[in-house]
Amino acid sequence: MEERKERIDNDYLEFETRKMKITIDYKKCEPARDNTSNPRCGFACVKACRLYGRNILRIEKNKPVLAVKEPSEIIRLDNECLACEYNCEMQGTGCIKIEVQMLPLIEYRREVGVPEGV
Ligand code: SF4
Ligand code: SF4
Repeated sequence: MEERKERIDNDYLEFETRKMKITIDYKKCEPARDNTSNPRCGFACVKACRLYGRNILRIEKNKPVLAVKEPSEIIRLDNECLACEYNCEMQGTGCIKIEVQMLPLIEYRREVGVPEGV
């Protein structure tokens, strides 16, 4: 099985789901940057993850962090809803970036079981 990596340091939180890589840039994240518990964004990413996602994110020391630590659990639970990125863009500082892995069409067809030549 492909190895999944997380990157957690003072500058970034980076983790992988089944088909995505999610990165939070703490240098641009309002509460992390300003060390405030009452940011203008209202921790929109964490609220969105509770509402539309799977509680992957939580607040710790004025930062959005992973509530689920085990990489295989993140892959199992994360529903790849994109709500954290969208809500940070709308209410926060736009510091969440999600890269979506796109399969080439031929591989996608194979993965979803479309017979060759159809
Ligand atoms: S919404 Fe954006 S700015 Fe606000 S806590 Fe989340 S990542 Fe940081
Ligand atoms: S994509 Fe959805 S489930 Fe995954 S971290 Fe963002 S809000 Fe949570």
